[in-house]
Amino acid sequence: MSTVLAIEDESDLLRVLEYNLTQAGHEALVADSGREGLRIAREKRPDLVLLDLMLPDIAGTEVCRKLRSEPTTTGIPIIMLTARGEEIDRVLGFELGADDYVVKPFSVRELMLRIQAVLRRGEAIGEAPTENTVSFGCLEIDRQAYRAWVAGNEIDLTALEFKLLVTLYDRRNRVQTRATLLDDVWGIQADINTRTVDTHVKRLREKLDDARDYVETVRGVGYRFVNSPVEAET
Ligand code: CA
Repeated sequence: MSTVLAIEDESDLLRVLEYNLTQAGHEALVADSGREGLRIAREKRPDLVLLDLMLPDIAGTEVCRKLRSEPTTTGIPIIMLTARGEEIDRVLGFELGADDYVVKPFSVRELMLRIQAVLRRGEAIGEAPTENTVSFGCLEIDRQAYRAWVAGNEIDLTALEFKLLVTLYDRRNRVQTRATLLDDVWGIQADINTRTVDTHVKRLREKLDDARDYVETVRGVGYRFVNSPVEAET
């Protein structure tokens, strides 16, 4: 059973979410303001947060930023609940680091599917892999802690970017098509398209800094993590 925190100020919607989360077998936590949501997130450390973008006290964007910046909550996946026309790229993005979003009015069924997909991603990261800590050239990855370092400096990755990095790394020397990455990293074929992959890889590379060349573009096909760090040192 997963614990899902819904932060939403529309009380009818919050009740619908609570009901459906419970029906789906999750433990539902609810908060009707950003402040309350942050308090519960810090205290209960849920497995996933549903976060309304428009909250009366603290903007959803700010709540997202705070969750991402605090060690106790940084690894918790976030699905944003947005209204049409809000800045979805920014939400998903890059600045805020939400893992997914749905646009209101959304179907509850679709939201529940996305929740499952995001939770599965988290489990895939959490599964005991052969090696928890990875050292590859100047890059180090700690799978359990969801943390990565380049030349000893920690880089700030969202849960999604971390999953993307680990997926590419685990398939070193094998080209991954955008479609494969969408399936395996995003986990759902929704209204996101292959450009989403490009944007996230670009962002990941920027964060990888000196390790950016470990992720190669295979023109017209997809991406490949180099087989050995030496290849990238050109
Ligand atoms: Ca709202």
